Parts: sequence; structure tokens; C-alpha cells
Amino acid sequence: MTLWKKNWLRKDPQKSKDTPDRFHELKSEIAVIRKQGEGPTKDPGTFSQYLCDLCTSPHPVPELRQCVLCGRWACKTCWKDEFYTCKSCAGLIAVHSRMSRE
Ligand SMILES: [Zn+2]
Ligand SMILES: [Zn+2]
Repeated sequence: MTLWKKNWLRKDPQKSKDTPDRFHELKSEIAVIRKQGEGPTKDPGTFSQYLCDLCTSPHPVPELRQCVLCGRWACKTCWKDEFYTCKSCAGLIAVHSRMSRE
């Protein structure tokens, strides 16, 4: 469980007053590119690999992970384990967590 998940995705009913608000605020800044569960784009060049939605380089499916926020499929280099999102959303989360600390 990452620190980010504890802070933003807590499903504790007692905390439902403020946590979802902040999560909603963050979500409103993130453009959803794909729906959750929607597959990655097939690489037209190889047919056996799929494209990373961030760097558009082909990878086998096990190397791609779907971002829980924007829905983009990210390869290892475009993925942030720290937040469990793509690096683009991780940047926004970092900005938000910095703001909430101040
Ligand atoms: Zn990538
Ligand atoms: Zn993302």
C-alpha cells in the first residue's frame, strides 16, 4: 500500500467527508484517455505487441500496466510504482501532495 493510496483512495466510511473530495479534485485535472478495462492499442507493425500510451513504443502485454487515473497503458519506463499510476498522473499527484502538506 503506497502512501498515496492511503491518502487518496481510502474507502474508510468515517473519512468519506474529505478524502473523496480531494480525490475528486485531482481526478478533475486528469484527462481520462481510456476506460478502465479497455485494452491497449495493438502495434500495427508486429501484431503481437501493444503500444505504450505514453511513449508509443511496442511492448508485450505483460509489460504494460493500466493507469487507474487516466486509463492509459504504460510501459515500465512510463510507470510510477510509487503512486501506481503512469508518470504523467504521478506528476499531478506529486503537485497535489505538495500542496496538501503546506
Ligand atoms: Zn512507455
Ligand atoms: Zn495516468
